[in-house]
Amino acid sequence: IIVQTTSEQYPVYIGKDAINRLPDFLNSAGYGKSKLLIITDKKVASLHLETVKMLLQNEGFSVIDFVVPEGEFAKTFEVFYQSHTYALEAGLNRKSLILALGGGAVGDLAGFVAATFMRGVPFIQIPTTLLAHDSAVGGKVAINHPLGKNMIGAFHQPIAVFYDLAFLHTLPLSELRSGFAEVIKHGLIQDQTFFKWLTENISGLDELIDEQLSYMILKGVGIKAAIVKEDEKESGIRAFLNLGHTLGHAIESEMGYGKISHGEGVIIGTIFALKLSMKELDLRFDLPGLIKWLDSLGYRTSVPAELNSEKLIAVMKKDKKTVTSKIRFVLLEQIGIPKLVELSDKTIHDVLVTMYS
Ligand code: NAD
Ligand code: ZN
Repeated sequence: IIVQTTSEQYPVYIGKDAINRLPDFLNSAGYGKSKLLIITDKKVASLHLETVKMLLQNEGFSVIDFVVPEGEFAKTFEVFYQSHTYALEAGLNRKSLILALGGGAVGDLAGFVAATFMRGVPFIQIPTTLLAHDSAVGGKVAINHPLGKNMIGAFHQPIAVFYDLAFLHTLPLSELRSGFAEVIKHGLIQDQTFFKWLTENISGLDELIDEQLSYMILKGVGIKAAIVKEDEKESGIRAFLNLGHTLGHAIESEMGYGKISHGEGVIIGTIFALKLSMKELDLRFDLPGLIKWLDSLGYRTSVPAELNSEKLIAVMKKDKKTVTSKIRFVLLEQIGIPKLVELSDKTIHDVLVTMYS
């Protein structure tokens, strides 16, 4: 897939052994003599760092690596600062290149380090989670502030993405489930046929085969790329990618990060958005059928009982996507046709209370 933005275009290689194309790409893009810095997390380093390092070293590249903590612990000011210190001490310069080896958290951190190191150096995404099909393209990179997730960041597009399916084979089921939520999201907002294909063909996340994985990544990346092409800086339609995220983020932050995965939160938020769409936009949709399928895949489909609905509404209001005192939601007129809608607190409340089991 080629991702096109206003200023740049870059390739996304998806498939078995996709990583093997990295050396040739680097040489032909003029990075043969550059110092390469791999940023990865502890877990991914233990599983896949050697493979990538050996591949590059065998081809004569000069590679160093910096290993950061896993998950949101990678996206802190401290780790960001330590990454810069490491890069400076290692003698990286403007001709150097950063490789992000890991999931969305590593991609967001490494991308932001690349965006800011000496006013910006190029970087390459090597995603290792299913969720990262969403985060590795599009160029949004960020770290967190104690007052809000992804509050400090930049738009910095990678120069290429290498999505090797072999890396996904070590993913725990819970991470596959988290990433698959974004796959469903992409189908719902943009592609009815793909959404139908998912519901008819995916009956267990523990038995995904490479053909299914590559098809859903290809579709997901394709949909994301099409949206980013139209709206790189999120002034309009890119906001559709937030389907399910308004309530999802509120649930994530109220439960405490790590207590529920991002994707699980998004699924509950998506069911909520579908209910709102049926009420407000007359969407016709087999919601019980969807919930049954999601249940069978191991998702939670209701708001955890310990979360207070008033508190969730208050948290949603604080979300950065709010422009007025009313909350804007991504709803669906039909599958594949999203719409941004401002809703009153009462409407939100009335539907939210039906979301508890
Ligand atoms: P992650 O990078 O935290 O990975 C999740 C966990 O899986 C980590 O513990 C990691 O060590 C482990 N892991 C990664 N690859 C593995 C593998 N191959 N085998 C075994 N374990 C592996 O996060 P994620 O779930 O990929 O992404 C979530 C992050 O992405 C969030 O911080 C979110 O804000 C961000 N995000 C960014 C965008 C964007 O557009 N920039 C979009 C969506 C999400
Ligand atoms: Zn998401």
